[in-house]
Amino acid sequence: MSVELMVNQWIESAHERGASDIHFEPDKDDKVRVRMRVDGDLRTIEVVPDGRKVIARLKVMAGLDVNERGVPLDGRIKFSSSGGGRSGLDLRLSTNPCLGGEKVVLRLIDSSKLGMTLEDLGFTKAMLAAYKPLVASPTGLLLHVGPTGSGKTTSLYAVLNTINRPEINIQTVEDPVEYDVPGITQTQVNHEAGLTFPRVLRALLRQDPDVILVGEIRDHETGEIAVEAAMTGHLVLSTLHTNDAVGTVVRLVDMGIPPYAIAYALRSVISQRFARKLCERCRRSVQPPEPVIQMTGSNRPIYKAEGCKSCSRDGYDGRTPILEFLPMTEPLKRAIYGGATPDVLGEVAARTGMISLWDDGCAKMWAGLTSFEEVLRLTKGHRGAQTGAARRRAEHTARHAQGAPPPQAGPGARPVVRPAAARPPGAPAVSQPPRKPAR
Ligand SMILES: [Zn+2]
Repeated sequence: MSVELMVNQWIESAHERGASDIHFEPDKDDKVRVRMRVDGDLRTIEVVPDGRKVIARLKVMAGLDVNERGVPLDGRIKFSSSGGGRSGLDLRLSTNPCLGGEKVVLRLIDSSKLGMTLEDLGFTKAMLAAYKPLVASPTGLLLHVGPTGSGKTTSLYAVLNTINRPEINIQTVEDPVEYDVPGITQTQVNHEAGLTFPRVLRALLRQDPDVILVGEIRDHETGEIAVEAAMTGHLVLSTLHTNDAVGTVVRLVDMGIPPYAIAYALRSVISQRFARKLCERCRRSVQPPEPVIQMTGSNRPIYKAEGCKSCSRDGYDGRTPILEFLPMTEPLKRAIYGGATPDVLGEVAARTGMISLWDDGCAKMWAGLTSFEEVLRLTKGHRGAQTGAARRRAEHTARHAQGAPPPQAGPGARPVVRPAAARPPGAPAVSQPPRKPAR
């Protein structure tokens, strides 16, 4: 089979599998290992000879100079399948010199995500109801946080899709630009050319923007400009590499952003993860085992999947987002302004309407979307995660606090009940453990 045909088949196969990336890794014997990232994990597809030819073919497709091998390169490929059926698959290509030649990674840009709106992001009704007014507001800073690959950028584009209209000027600064969105102005940072986040931001602020998307807040300067812009009549959307919503506030303070500015500008933080989704064909409802009852305080049925043909005996098929939602409230503003510790911020957040990763994970577990194991895995060491011991302590405290209104009774090691609106119908309240010292 020709190299051209092989490359086309890999791309088509990646698209069919719903892969996000294809990796081409050459070795010293001129073989190339082809791997694809599907549902977050890399899987080896095959190892083939003629590594240099494969890499050269990919670079030609992206319009790059085949002979330029010593430096990292970026390119784009507009791919149409050999059958001509599928059109408009966008690929972003990057190269990196390595032992054995050059490694190439293709990122598949799923243009179906371009049409995504807030409703497609896995928000519960309660979160949507709280988030939509913030998105519609002309000012404020909205942050989406989480590790790499947690869907932050996709979420931001969904927000843009929701508000994009000819009457407003939307400008972005990104590294790199992932999706081409009609109707908005997108600028890609270029560090070599000195086109940094702060520099582009300052320039676009002079271009009469209404909405600004900052790909990522990584440094003090970017954070400061973003916060200032959000305080002066712009809606600012951005991402941060933090683990949880409360930790995001702490990180901004650590970056040197004045607490009053954070309190004033920040409207919400959404922390996101992907959980593996239970296979719809083989999942079934089961009685929850004792640890689940202990940790959730509920004996509501959960779901298990044994594995079937359709999910390759895995029990899981695809992914589902698990979200933590922290809305800014007056008590939280006062706590940030007053320089509260992360522990106290966590307490105030839980008391005033935060939906924790644990809360949303449990809701999605009871809805049959994911398993208890996945919820545990994703919330391990996370604020709002529970252990049996914590649960018992919380119950003990609750027994002693009987008679007093439980959640609003004040800080300390007492259970915090999440708002009724966020609970699925019929689900009992999920209580939270006493806050652990965060850092
Ligand atoms: Zn299955």
